[in-house]
Amino acid sequence: MKITFSCKISLCSRLSSIKNYRRVPSRLAIRRGVRMYQAFTHTFCGATVDDTLAKSIDMESRVVVVTSGKGGVGKTTTTANLGMSIARLGYRVALIDADIGLRNLDLLLGLENRVLYTAMDIVEGQCRLDQALIRDKRWKNLALLAISKNRQKYNVTRKNMQNLIDSVKELGFHFILIDCPAGIDVGFINAISPAQEAIVVTTPEITAIRDADRVAGLLEANDIYNVKLLVNRVRPDMIQKNDMMSVRDVQEMLGIPLLGAIPEDTNVIISTNRGEPLVLNKKLTLSGIAFENAARRLIGKQDYFIDLNTPYKGMFQKVQEFFLGND
Ligand code: ADP
Ligand code: MG
Repeated sequence: MKITFSCKISLCSRLSSIKNYRRVPSRLAIRRGVRMYQAFTHTFCGATVDDTLAKSIDMESRVVVVTSGKGGVGKTTTTANLGMSIARLGYRVALIDADIGLRNLDLLLGLENRVLYTAMDIVEGQCRLDQALIRDKRWKNLALLAISKNRQKYNVTRKNMQNLIDSVKELGFHFILIDCPAGIDVGFINAISPAQEAIVVTTPEITAIRDADRVAGLLEANDIYNVKLLVNRVRPDMIQKNDMMSVRDVQEMLGIPLLGAIPEDTNVIISTNRGEPLVLNKKLTLSGIAFENAARRLIGKQDYFIDLNTPYKGMFQKVQEFFLGND
C-alpha cells in the first residue's frame, strides 16, 4: 500500500511535464493537500504570525521577478497573492513594487496609506531601508517596498536596484518577489536585474502569449534560466467550446514549466477593491486555492495541479471535487 502511495506521489512530481497539468491527482494526494491547506487556513486565518516559524527556516534568499511583457495580465495580483500565501506558510517575504509609473501593489495589499518613504528616498539618503519597508499588520513576516512614488523611471538605475535587493536580503527575507512593470524597456531591465528566478504571467490570449515569449527570451539573455509559467484568467467554459486556448496549449507554445493556472474569477476584482488578497478570504474560492497551490509549488511543497480543464462544472462542485476527489 505504501509503495503505491509513493509511486503516485513521485509520478506527480515532474513539474516540467505538461501532462502533469491534466493529471487528476490521487485521492491520497488531494487529501494530503487539503489537510495542509486546512491546517494553514485554520491555524493562521485572521491571526498575526510571530517570527518564531520564520526564524526556524534556514535558506538562502530567493529573488523572484514576476513579469509578463503585456500589461494587465495579472502580475500585481499574482505578486500579492503568492507573497501573502508564502508568508502564511511561515516564510519572511518582501514584495518590491518595481512598477514605477503605475504603482499599485500597495492598493492590492491595503497598505496604500502607509507608504511614506520609497526606495528612491533611501537612494537619496532621506530615510533608512527599515523605514521604507512596510510591515503588513496581518502577517508581520510580509513586507512591502515601493521603488518610487511619482518619479521618473530613469531615476532608478540597475545598480540602485541591485544594491537595494542586496540590502533587503541582508534583513533575512526568504523570498523577495519583484512586481515588474509592463513592457520590455528600462523599467523591465532594472526590475529583472537582481533576480535569479522569474515567473512569467500570461493570459490564454495570443497577444499576451507573444509578449510572454519575448520576455522569456529576454530573461534567458539576462542569465535568468529558472523561469516558470503562470496562466491567469483561464475560462474552462470557453476552453470547452474551443473559444480559448487550453493551459496545455499555452504551455506548449511557450515551453516553460507550469507553476499554476488561475481561473477568471470576479472575486479577484472584489479582493483588489478591498485591499485584501484573495488567499486571505475565509470563504473558499477556486482562484484562491489555485494561488495557494502555485505558492506551495514555488516553495517546492506541492506537486499536483487542480484540473481546470475538465468539462465546466459549478464552482461548488469543483471545490468539492478538489477536496473529495472525483473518482
Ligand atoms: P498587471 O499587474 O499585469 O498589470 P493586474 O494584476 O493589475 O495586472 O490585473 C489587471 C486587472 O485584471 C485587475 O483589475 C485585476 O483585478 C484583474 N484580474 C487579474 N487576475 C484576474 C482573474 N484571475 N480573474 C479576474 N480578474 C483578474
Ligand atoms: Mg501591475
